Amino acid sequence: MEPDRVPGEGGVIYLDYQATTSVAPEVADAMQPWISEKFANPHSPSKWGREAAAAIEVARDQVEAAIGLGGGSVAFTGSATEALNWALKGTVEKATKHRNRIITVATEHAAVLDTCEWLAGQGIDLTVLPVGPDGLLDLADLERELDERVAVIAVMLVNNEIGVIQPVEQIAALAHGVGALMLCDAVQGLGRVQIPPGPDLVAVSAHKIHGPKGVGALWMSAGAEPAPLIHGGGQEKGLRSGTLSPALCVGFGAASKLASERFEQDHAHVEQLWITAGSSLMADWIINGGMTQRYHGNLNVYWPGVDAARLIADLRDIAFSLGSACASGSGRPSHVLRALGLSDRDARSCIRLGFGRYTTEEEIIDAVTRIDSAAREQRDLAA
Ligand code: PLP
Repeated sequence: MEPDRVPGEGGVIYLDYQATTSVAPEVADAMQPWISEKFANPHSPSKWGREAAAAIEVARDQVEAAIGLGGGSVAFTGSATEALNWALKGTVEKATKHRNRIITVATEHAAVLDTCEWLAGQGIDLTVLPVGPDGLLDLADLERELDERVAVIAVMLVNNEIGVIQPVEQIAALAHGVGALMLCDAVQGLGRVQIPPGPDLVAVSAHKIHGPKGVGALWMSAGAEPAPLIHGGGQEKGLRSGTLSPALCVGFGAASKLASERFEQDHAHVEQLWITAGSSLMADWIINGGMTQRYHGNLNVYWPGVDAARLIADLRDIAFSLGSACASGSGRPSHVLRALGLSDRDARSCIRLGFGRYTTEEEIIDAVTRIDSAAREQRDLAA
């Protein structure tokens, strides 16, 4: 079976790589023994427990290598959402009482924005900076906001809805200039673009890189470890309690190793798919976000007046999204598209095509051509 094929749904073209990715066959193979015969608790001192603990340490090294920042260490979590909650809440808790500010950006994932809003409800001073029509933070806006009261600046690397890449290295330098930490949500960046040097805390997730769901990680530079969010048995050096799942950690490790080994190959493949997708689309589509700093496995476009929800309903054998997996189905216009300055009407015309390692050129051409002509039909009927 091809990794992107959904059993029982033969023929579905999967173009929703930002929502999740299929488990790579190599990852499933690596996980298999840890799901079936190797069931020991990795925190028990038995021979089998030590074997499981050793497998987790190999996986930790593989995740750290894929992040590629050096000098820090990774703690496993249940998701990137947990890692981001932990990083924000734990950093604020550890900071001195004068450092009670957080700065973030309007286009962050809900895992950051909602956590920041929750902290604001607890008395933290929150600043949410806007982005330009290109989806990027203006560094001058950030500089104006900086002072010695800032505990943490949270900015993502690759945006999950529109694919633009924020200037993380420069943001980290500005944070350090006032003694603040920089938290980077690199969920959509890991394995897809190099994570730049600078951040003190980096959140990642296995299921976006052809690993299993239910495991994420927080990378922490030495000394930047947040106060624990989850208390209990003292696992993960006392920072994140709870029995680790060897299967999930080993799966994350195998996916990270594969992403590191295939980095150039996957990158070149995505570049080719981007060119193919762009040349198969009619000129009437407008790309959301700036063109210079972006990851090319995310094509978020709109054709004014087209009903994107109807397109998705009409083309059920193509899995694509309205713009964000979280906003889809909720009826709420995407906060990212609104932050770019799109009207609610135009936001309802946006679709996101996400592709990667297992997408073929034929699939992209087939999907884009059919999406294009379904949109044209809608427009012709409305005319
Ligand atoms: N951050 C970004 C940018 C994401 O795209 C996602 C998932 O959609 C998350 C955080 C949350 O990751 P997880 O599914 O591991 O909680």
